[in-house]
Amino acid sequence: MTNIKRWDEDNHWVEIDLDRCMGLGDCASKCPVGVYKVINGKVHAEKIGECIECGTCQRACPFKAILNHWAWK
Ligand code: SF4
Repeated sequence: MTNIKRWDEDNHWVEIDLDRCMGLGDCASKCPVGVYKVINGKVHAEKIGECIECGTCQRACPFKAILNHWAWK
């Protein structure tokens, strides 16, 4: 069973596989606008509405936990 969390705000969205997310935080440290925050070992995309579509977070995750992102579908 998958455990996918979707974050959606202002026409920006991202889906994160929480089973794959290890809370490493590479997405959080590399996102230029601070979309992500690691809370209790899992990443939260609380500011997804500020995303500028750079694609860095999806490339940064070694576990491929960031599944879908509106800009690259
Ligand atoms: S695409 Fe870029 S700006 Fe958007 S959440 Fe990912 S790293 Fe942040």
